Amino acid sequence: MHSIVEKLNFIKKEVNEIVDKKQLKTIPQIIVVTKTFPAEKIIPLLSSGHIHFGENKIQEAEKKWIDLKNKYKPYLHMVGKLQSNKAKKAVKLFDFIHSLDNEKLALKLHESEIELNKKAKYFIQVNIAKETQKSGIMLNELYEFYIYCIKKLSLNVIGLMCLPPANIDPKDFFSLLKNEGEKLKTKDLSMGMSSDYKEAIVNGSTFLRLGSIIMGQRKSI
Ligand SMILES: *Cc1c(COP(=O)(O)O)cnc(C)c1O
Repeated sequence: MHSIVEKLNFIKKEVNEIVDKKQLKTIPQIIVVTKTFPAEKIIPLLSSGHIHFGENKIQEAEKKWIDLKNKYKPYLHMVGKLQSNKAKKAVKLFDFIHSLDNEKLALKLHESEIELNKKAKYFIQVNIAKETQKSGIMLNELYEFYIYCIKKLSLNVIGLMCLPPANIDPKDFFSLLKNEGEKLKTKDLSMGMSSDYKEAIVNGSTFLRLGSIIMGQRKSI
């Protein structure tokens, strides 16, 4: 078996063990974040039957994924910052968009859905620790933004996403996001990366976004 597939299987086993031990209701899906990695590294995972993959840049994703999508039919997740002028490309290529974080973008996504006659699933990205350099909706604006997206624009918002600050225990941020999701009655939570996915699982994550722990170290670019 290919070493990347072995790595994924190992992580899946670990995830299942945590779910069993903590008697959690849902087994989180693993999104393998393949940014910076070429198609050759991704194909073994596709061939093994894995279905959720993530990228963070439209241009790179188009280059790599248009053919792979046709052939293997995976679900593609946009996990990076999305500029509203790329909304249409995003709706065209991606099944899930994790970075819905402002009204201008929401409107463009809505218009693109109509134009393309295609619906995507969305996570509202929340700026959970009020970091000035990070994107995401502030908690005090979340409810109004959510209502705008679902009522005015009919976007299929399935949950919330966050990127907690590096170097601080993420536990409280994960549980805060979970709480906000419960208040909105959204179903999904996109939280947990290579460094903190175990904590995210315990706090009810339904989609883990895992890159380096499965694919290996990314070359800095
Ligand atoms: C790159 C990226 C990930 C994966 O990061 P790792 O630390 O390699 O697991 C997850 N989420 C987002 C938004 C990313 O950009």
